[in-house]
Amino acid sequence: MQASAPALEVRDLHKRYGDLEVLKGISLTARDGDVISILGSSGSGKSTFLRCINLLENPCKGEIHVAGEQLKLKTAREGHLVAADNKQINRLRSELGFVFQNFNLWPHMSVLDNIIEAPRRVLGLSRAEATERAEALLAKVGIADKRHVYPTQLSGGQQQRAAIARTLCMEPKVILFDEPTSALDPEMVQEVLNVIRALAEEGRTMLLVTHEMNFARQVSSEVVFLHQGRVEEQGTPDQVFDNPQSARCQQFMSSNH
Ligand code: ADP
Ligand code: MG
Repeated sequence: MQASAPALEVRDLHKRYGDLEVLKGISLTARDGDVISILGSSGSGKSTFLRCINLLENPCKGEIHVAGEQLKLKTAREGHLVAADNKQINRLRSELGFVFQNFNLWPHMSVLDNIIEAPRRVLGLSRAEATERAEALLAKVGIADKRHVYPTQLSGGQQQRAAIARTLCMEPKVILFDEPTSALDPEMVQEVLNVIRALAEEGRTMLLVTHEMNFARQVSSEVVFLHQGRVEEQGTPDQVFDNPQSARCQQFMSSNH
C-alpha cells in the first residue's frame, strides 16, 4: 500500500447483463476526503456501478484498487469477473461500506446487534469492544435511545441512520451510498442528509448516488453524470450544475432543478 494511493480507484469498468451492456467503461478516482456524487437518470447504471465496486455484482472487465491494493479478480462463467481471493475480498468489502436505499437491517436483531454483528464476526472485536464503538456511533447519528429496539419499531429515517451507524462501525475507508434517502417519507430525508453532511465535513471519503440535487451540490467535491453506462460529464459541482457541457447533462439538470 502506497501512502499516496487514492482511497478508491476504478479503471475501465464494464458490466453486461446478457446482451445488455450497462456499464461501458467507467473510471473514477476518489482521493481521501473526496465526496463524489453520481447523478444520472433511472437506468443509467448508477447502482450497478456501486454494486460492482464491492462485487455485489460481477463486472466483466475492469480494475478496482482500494488504497493502492488491487482487487484480485478471475474470469468465471459467461465472462464474469469474480474474486480470486476470498480473504482479500472479505477484507476489502469491510473497507468499502455500503448504505442501501432500503436500509437492509436484519429484522430479527436489535439495532445494537445489527451494528455489532459484522465488527465481531469480520474484525474479531469482542462484544464489549463492538458495543462501545456502536454506542458512540448511535449517539453520533442521534438514536442512542433506540439501541435495544428492533428495526420495525423505527421510522425509516431512524432505520437509515442505524444502517449508517452499522456501516461506520466497520471503520470503512470509503462509504458507498445508493440513494440513501429515496425510500424515505419527505419529512425524514433531512435527518439522514444531515448525518451524511456531518460525515462529509469530517473528511470521510464517499461516493453518493442521489437525486437530492441541492445536497449533492453542497457536499460534493466532484460530480459525475452517468448516461447509458458511460461518464457523460464530470467536474466540480459548479461546473456540472451551472455550466454543463453535454446536451444530456444540460437536459438532466434543467429537468431536475
Ligand atoms: P440506476 O441505478 O442508474 O437506475 P441500474 O444500475 O439499476 O441503474 O440499472 C442499469 C441498467 O441495468 C438498467 O437498464 C437496468 O434495467 C439493468 N439491470 C440492472 N440490474 C439488472 C439485472 N439484475 N438483470 C438485468 N438487467 C439489469
Ligand atoms: Mg439505482
